[in-house]
Amino acid sequence: MNKFYIETFGCQMNVHESEKIAGILSGRGLYAADSAADADVIVFNTCCIRDTAEKKIEGFIGELKALKRADPSKIIAVTGCMTQQIGRAEALKTRFPFIDVILGTANQYSIAEKIDRILALNKRKTCIEVLSDEKPCIREDVPILRTSYPNAWVNIMYGCNNFCTYCIVPYVRGRERSRNLSDIKAEIVSLLDAGYSEITLLGQNVDSYGSDFSDGTNFYGLLKELSTIKGKFRLRFMTSHPKDLSEDVIKIIADTPNFCKNIHLPVQSGSDAVLKAMNRKYTRDRYFYLIDLIRRYMPECGITSDIMVGFPGETERDFADTTDLVERVRFQNAFTFVYSPRAGTPAADMEQLPQAVKKDRITRLVALQNRISDEISLEYLGKTEEILAEDSPRPGVLVGRTDSGRLVSFGGEKSEIGKFFNVKINENKASALFGERV
Ligand code: SF4
Repeated sequence: MNKFYIETFGCQMNVHESEKIAGILSGRGLYAADSAADADVIVFNTCCIRDTAEKKIEGFIGELKALKRADPSKIIAVTGCMTQQIGRAEALKTRFPFIDVILGTANQYSIAEKIDRILALNKRKTCIEVLSDEKPCIREDVPILRTSYPNAWVNIMYGCNNFCTYCIVPYVRGRERSRNLSDIKAEIVSLLDAGYSEITLLGQNVDSYGSDFSDGTNFYGLLKELSTIKGKFRLRFMTSHPKDLSEDVIKIIADTPNFCKNIHLPVQSGSDAVLKAMNRKYTRDRYFYLIDLIRRYMPECGITSDIMVGFPGETERDFADTTDLVERVRFQNAFTFVYSPRAGTPAADMEQLPQAVKKDRITRLVALQNRISDEISLEYLGKTEEILAEDSPRPGVLVGRTDSGRLVSFGGEKSEIGKFFNVKINENKASALFGERV
């Protein structure tokens, strides 16, 4: 056993957890392979946020059968949110008996131990370990093999207590658990010492950081502590929840030069009736209030969002409320998507809208948001922005984000990744910005 390959599906949380799995496997002397075919250990870190995503992943797992048949010594492991659903691990085992190990989200840290056990067995059978504890302990001792230099992901909390009616996350990730503030700060300081220039704090709902502590620690307190870290770096976070984002948090972002003026604030719908049915626990007025606050403290802030159409019961009037909100807020970018029922969530049992209605609404919403994103892109033309250089697949080209979160491409060499450059933005092609260093 000397090479591993990890295929990651889903959100940044999973991307970062794959960095931890890679760290554990590297610690055991394995190194990364370029493909599953070339690897001795293949890990699928899965997502179950949508039914379609799960079906696609099952298709990919099915394709591993041929690899396993050609080389039965390969170890195949499946972990992530998909395995954490009730009865899912057993179903995977039945459908794909060639999987060697199935681990829940809180069990993936034992992957090396499981590999050892599999290697010690003569006859293999699928080993399943899925912890059902709603509050598994936080592990602080996990090695991490980071893959996103110059950015580093840092978990500040795990799980979610919100139970939005369309979302499976609270069922597969358990209740909110916050990391100790001192552990978070120490990790960030050591990352900056190691040369990382951008830190992205991760949590399903970062604004409720600390709510599981009894000493008053909260997200503002964490940011205040992080604002004392000396030196030049960038700090972003995801994801905020409109019911919890506070004026204190907005103000400290505005007041701290190292904190990026970029907030991702998922609105999901502009209709109060739909927001209520989604159990989002805020109103459109509250959302407008937050946008006003952000713009008052940081007129230059890049605000992005997630917007869903076709939620059960959404009327044409509700949809008009969403497009009205989008027109008024003018998001820099938005992830727009069609609601699809997720088994095990309350909304899956509600009466569903016809596909044609959903399709028509998403087409209109995408056209609206594209127009707005394009108009905002034009506002960048001629401006000089500070960009942190990141890798790009094109030779001689680097990409990077403005403080407000817009991606910009410009000329540069790989040796310059991780440096800050002033870039004059001079071209906008289909909302993609291009510039040159000045
Ligand atoms: S806040 Fe809502 S949408 Fe986000 S993870 Fe929690 S339940 Fe899901």
